[in-house]
Amino acid sequence: PVWLGVMGGGQLGRMFVHAAQALGYKVAVLEPEKNCPAAHAADHHIVADYNDQAALAELGQLCVAVTTEFENVAAQSLAFLAERTIVAPAAHGVSIAQDRIAEKNFFTDCSPASKVLPAPHRLIASKADIDAHSDAISAELLPGILKTVRLGYDGKGQVRVRTLDELRTAVAAFGDTDVACVLEKMLPLAYEISVLVARGVDGATVVYPIAENVHRDGILFTTTVPGPNVCADSARKAQDAARVIVDRLDYVGVLCIEFFVLQDGSLVVNEMAPRPHNSGHYTIDACVTSQFTQQARAMARLPLGDTRQHSATVMLNILGDIWFVGDGKQLREPAWDQLLALPGACLHLYGKAHARRGRKMGHISFVAPTLAQAQQQLAVACGILGIAL
Ligand code: ATP
Ligand code: MG
Ligand code: MG
Repeated sequence: PVWLGVMGGGQLGRMFVHAAQALGYKVAVLEPEKNCPAAHAADHHIVADYNDQAALAELGQLCVAVTTEFENVAAQSLAFLAERTIVAPAAHGVSIAQDRIAEKNFFTDCSPASKVLPAPHRLIASKADIDAHSDAISAELLPGILKTVRLGYDGKGQVRVRTLDELRTAVAAFGDTDVACVLEKMLPLAYEISVLVARGVDGATVVYPIAENVHRDGILFTTTVPGPNVCADSARKAQDAARVIVDRLDYVGVLCIEFFVLQDGSLVVNEMAPRPHNSGHYTIDACVTSQFTQQARAMARLPLGDTRQHSATVMLNILGDIWFVGDGKQLREPAWDQLLALPGACLHLYGKAHARRGRKMGHISFVAPTLAQAQQQLAVACGILGIAL
């Protein structure tokens, strides 16, 4: 057997395992948590920290190529692995995506070719930075969003601030001077989109259709493709920018880039994820090649797959909240049987043992010949699951 490896055992790892196995590979997962979504699916689970050298050596020895699904694997771990096997994506791209300042600097460096800039922003490394630049901050960046430079996701590690006083309070709440933050200007968004792009070791690049994303409480709520708001012009600009960005990184694998479309129609690049992404789950049921299959192809140095979308689709994230009856502590399993009676409903549950509020438990994609039909099924499903649309 030929083995592929993945660092991280969450739902992204699990769906990667399924896709790689369908291509005939055995898959090893390195993940410290014993009872994780990917471990149930994997052929081998190395239970260890992501920076455990013996574990990394074992993974590198076993696998012809290793990828990562966990956003915060240390660059040194990937570099250590890269001395033993193919690592895709490489440490370079992953480490840029882990640091919002490095990421924004990189986007700015790309902008002459990509034609897209990040939001106006400033590094806030200490309270003294606020005092030293208070006039410029007030004039250019407030109201704004303060985000930790590292480790934020699903809207965690960020807070909206309107005034200098709120900014000072927010910086203090993030741990005073030792947590570096970036303050971004609050932009007037019309809608949000993301672009999945995949690049092979030979430089061949494929781009998926634009996904339109709606967030709720900082967490992705739905992804709709084709997006009802997306105009051809923004779509082409975002796809062109994605190709420039993935080339500049000399990237191998699947990369997701989030963009804002502002009310004046202009495009702003927000952030990137060096892996398959929640907003790309629609590709599993609506495209010829899913983002997970594409990742396996890219790392195994196979030809990249067709990104063509064959069905209109809406993807709904399933959070743990719907397990809770009312506001009490009682839990019940949602009515999957009623949901699965809907035509075009494709349910994916991640095998997590315990539902928690805000926890991603699964997703469901509705696929249909027309977007209106997919949206209609979404509305019925939300009624069944008790989710307000
Ligand atoms: P993810 O889970 O996608 O990794 P995250 O926690 O890293 O999210 P961002 O994507 O930077 O955070 O921001 C979360 C959401 O907050 C965005 O999708 C957008 O809705 C809103 N947002 C972020 N930055 C801005 C901004 N500068 N102006 C307006 N809205 C913003
Ligand atoms: Mg993020
Ligand atoms: Mg985001």
